[in-house]
Amino acid sequence: MKPLQQLVRPNIWALKPYSSARDEYRGAAASVFLDANENPYNAPFNRYPDPLQADVKEMLAPIKDVRPEQIFLGNGSDEAIDLVFRIFCEPGTDNVVAIAPTYGMYKVCADINHVDYRSVLLDEDFRLDAEKLLAAADAHTKVIFLCTPNNPTGNDLERDEIIKVIERFQGIVVIDEAYSDFSARKPFRKELAAYPNIIVLNTFSKAWGCAAIRLGMAFASEEIIALFNKVKYPYNINRLTQQQAVDMLKKRFDVDKWVRTLLREREQVMSAFAELEICERVYPTDANFFLARVRGADAIYDYLVKNGIIVRNRSKVELCGDCLRVTIGTAQEDNSLLAALRSYRGEVQK
Ligand SMILES: *Cc1c(COP(=O)(O)O)cnc(C)c1O
Repeated sequence: MKPLQQLVRPNIWALKPYSSARDEYRGAAASVFLDANENPYNAPFNRYPDPLQADVKEMLAPIKDVRPEQIFLGNGSDEAIDLVFRIFCEPGTDNVVAIAPTYGMYKVCADINHVDYRSVLLDEDFRLDAEKLLAAADAHTKVIFLCTPNNPTGNDLERDEIIKVIERFQGIVVIDEAYSDFSARKPFRKELAAYPNIIVLNTFSKAWGCAAIRLGMAFASEEIIALFNKVKYPYNINRLTQQQAVDMLKKRFDVDKWVRTLLREREQVMSAFAELEICERVYPTDANFFLARVRGADAIYDYLVKNGIIVRNRSKVELCGDCLRVTIGTAQEDNSLLAALRSYRGEVQK
């Protein structure tokens, strides 16, 4: 890895961050707070929330097997993705490299930040070729984006190929593990000590069942996390979200139970789906969804919508022609989908 200073935008490296009232006062217990122009009434919502979310991070660190200083919390993973661009990529000059197909937010954030986005196709079975990816990088490539298990394909990328990318690339490698709770593989957040150039993303939106509270996590070296903290909005995680996260972390065994239930359900739905007349191929998955190639994805998608059932139509995505992405729901929801597809008669749709 290049020295961090060479990877960070000069204005960000030199930035003196906003210092909030709650940053400046951190010490012995106080009882009179006249420092932040808050209203003294309407507790507890009158007070600004903890800007660095100490309570959440203290509970999260042992669960994720990292230190609190290696955690950034954002308004969804999307905030972390956007901050990666704002910290490392000079608009109009730098570029990033990513696999395709993959999660759409990397490209949207690149476009918003006016950063060139270079995508490199996976193979027909959605496998990563490290050589091909690295060949797309040049002296202005600051970041490589990998997503494993990948969205929308569902599969884990080969670990050896990921490691090749991390070891050979001189910049930052973002590894989005939004779905790693559903995968049997060792997550990359456990490799922070070995690889100082990785940023691993997790989220409360999937296995943790908290998409509504908008809470994403980034795990990286203390030096990289310090940069995130410098650039983020001072109070980026509100009090309600921090409180709900703490409550969820206390209930984390529910999460394990949900994951086990969803994995069992996934196997059943996938084998039933594979038997459907409309199904050409169900792709293997390590996530809480699967991708399937069907006969006439657009017509089937419309038919399902008319029946009040929404899946994701990915048929316009590269390598995903005629593919639908199906999230694993409750047994009842999944059976509704399967029943509707069993009574689908393509010819009637025309
Ligand atoms: C769903 C998803 C996320 C989660 O984003 P949030 O902003 O945390 O809700 C991140 N990455 C991928 C690949 C996803 O599919």
